Amino acid sequence: MILIDGKKTAEQIKIEIAQEVKKMNDAGIKVPHLAAILVGDDPASQTYVNSKSKSCHEVGFMSSTYRLPENTSERELLEMVEFINNDPEVDGLIVQLPLPAHIDNQKVINTIVPHKDVDGFHPVNVGRMTIGLPAYIPATPFGVLELLRRNSISTTGKHCVVLGRSNIVGKPMSLLMSRNSEPGNATVTLCHSKTHNLKEITKQADILIVAIGQPGFVGADMVKEGAVVIDVGIHRVATDKNPSGFRLVGDVQFDEVAKKASYITPVPGGVGPMTIASLLLNTLKSAKKEIYN
Ligand code: NDP
Repeated sequence: MILIDGKKTAEQIKIEIAQEVKKMNDAGIKVPHLAAILVGDDPASQTYVNSKSKSCHEVGFMSSTYRLPENTSERELLEMVEFINNDPEVDGLIVQLPLPAHIDNQKVINTIVPHKDVDGFHPVNVGRMTIGLPAYIPATPFGVLELLRRNSISTTGKHCVVLGRSNIVGKPMSLLMSRNSEPGNATVTLCHSKTHNLKEITKQADILIVAIGQPGFVGADMVKEGAVVIDVGIHRVATDKNPSGFRLVGDVQFDEVAKKASYITPVPGGVGPMTIASLLLNTLKSAKKEIYN
């Protein structure tokens, strides 16, 4: 079994980005600038936004965080998005999800101008990705593709089973694995909560990508010998063995499944670190006008 080291891969990607930024700086070109909007004080969202901002600084990007109170109205948030859309200094804009219940997530996403939508959630980017035009690819599936590519895991002709059909992970993942490129060119089965005989399907997977949000859902009995297993799930579970009082686990029972897998991602240190690295890559692409010009 080979452990897919997402932490190390993400660090390598950040080094490559920092080298690009240095070249831009040396050539007198404006460095990439990522803006984030955070509404409310959800601790997990604060942690994500802080680590995105820290990663920007590590690679030499500019970053700005707009923190708005929980009771911000939808109109006020949309005005903020439009303000940043029109700011020529900003290359990429992300709105940290989830938003408070009184705000329509999709309306906010639709308001971000597609060429700054580095999360790749705007319908224009989703549509472009679907038909194979240049597009921002959502950070988590993009991170999974990079892990497959950089570990030389061939996907062509393989049966890839994706567990979960969310708009941010499972659905784009299934489209990307079926597109005509490498990684890609897989025969894809997309499973969700209404899927019958789930175990029979997952056991056929050469590549199993799990994003269902259920801690330890996938056990060894659901996995074929020699499969590549990518665990996107991330959960805090209480423990008294750790000073923080919790430990992180994925959607896969790592210890059992690792005995059967040919490659597997750990949690933490697998897909998680790749998500931020991919967001930085998308922001670099935006600054270099590689997707839209
Ligand atoms: P969602 O809750 O949005 O989607 C979960 C999907 O799993 C749904 O499509 C759901 O089906 C399906 N599902 C749920 N239960 C079952 C079941 N028992 N059998 C089959 N399918 C099931 O989750 P996300 O995609 O946003 O996230 C998935 C996991 O990945 C979470 O643990 C999340 O924390 C993690 N995550 C990690 C990231 C990272 O950077 N590492 C980034 C984003 C997410 P249905 O559609 O029918 O309801």
